[in-house]
Formats: sequence, C-alpha cells, structure tokens
Amino acid sequence: MLIGKIFIVTGTGKYFKNVEFDPENNLGIIKIAKDGTTAELLWGYSDGGKFTSELPAHLMSHMARLKVNPENRVILHCHPTYTLAMNYVHELDEKKFTHTLWETCTECMVVFPDGVGVLPWMLCGTNEIGEATAKKMEEFRLVVWGLHGLYGAGKDIDEAFGLVETVEKAAQLYMISAHLPRINTITDDQLREIAEGFGVNYKKDFLN
Ligand SMILES: [Zn+2]
Repeated sequence: MLIGKIFIVTGTGKYFKNVEFDPENNLGIIKIAKDGTTAELLWGYSDGGKFTSELPAHLMSHMARLKVNPENRVILHCHPTYTLAMNYVHELDEKKFTHTLWETCTECMVVFPDGVGVLPWMLCGTNEIGEATAKKMEEFRLVVWGLHGLYGAGKDIDEAFGLVETVEKAAQLYMISAHLPRINTITDDQLREIAEGFGVNYKKDFLN
C-alpha cells in the first residue's frame, strides 16, 4: 500500500526545533521501495544520519489512516508537557481520558469528536508498539502512548499540529485546575449539544 510513496521523515536523534534552520540535515525524503520494507533516500540526512527509530510506528500508522481516509497524509509524534503530566495523574482509559478532555474545553468535542485512543506504556521503537498504534489509528486520529507522548494524524501538518495542540491545551487546563474544587463543568448534555450544533460524528459511547 505504501510502495512507491514518498515521505518526509525527521532523522533519529534530531530535534524538531532545528528543522527550520537546517532541513537538509534534520530531514530526509524517502521513497518506499518495491519490496515494501526498505526505503530509498532521495534527499536529506546530509550528515550521514538516518530516519527516526519510530519509522515503523509511523509507516504502520500511515497505512491505517490511509485506509480510513486517503487524505490523512501526516503522522506527528511528540511529547507535549501537560498531556504527558496528565498521564501520571489520570486513568489511562481512552473513554475516561477523552471524556475529561472533552468536558475541560468546549472546542475539544468539535476538534476531536472521534476521541483519543490510549495505549499502555510499551517499549518504543519496536514493531509491537507500531502495530498497536496502527490498530488504534483505524479508529482514532489521536493516540496517547502511555507515559511517553502522543500521536496525531491529519491531512496536512496544520491539522495534525492543531489536533495535538487542542489536546495539549485541554490537558493544561486540566492540570492547572484538577486539584481545585470543581464548581462548573461542561455536562454530557452540553457535549451532545455541541456535537449536534457543529454536525460532528462523535463517539457516543464515550459519554456517560
Ligand atoms: Zn517519543
């Protein structure tokens, strides 16, 4: 399915912040070979580097998302501070995790009505975590790697970043308010109202 497809991939050990200053060193453009398991470097990694150790998880996620939506061309992995902090104080249950984010910030239901998938802690850089991520990606555009970070999928970089930033904003709100007495909340009825008002297809079983 990915044979002949071309991807831009960050290099292993490289920092995203350096991409804009030195793309040719920090990025590579790769083409998936006919055997489907190797890739040819077309451009980049100019210091002799290679692609991220998370390439298997990225490529398997691409396959999963492209099956759901051929427009989903971007897979982004990152370690957003508050989302990760939330992993340590909130149950790692995708229904409960999604529900908390939805009820924390009105825009969440509009931006990710399909919710957030959650994986337990697993060793990164392996095929196992790649397969588990791809399985979740069939259902979710956002997948939490327990105690590690977040995966986001979108049709372009803007959408993938937007999804991740919306989760991160809600997680930040949660982390700065969860230890205080809760006086107001967005109710499930209001969440339904948001979904209906904006015409989004949400995960109904994630509401109580
Ligand atoms: Zn990571």
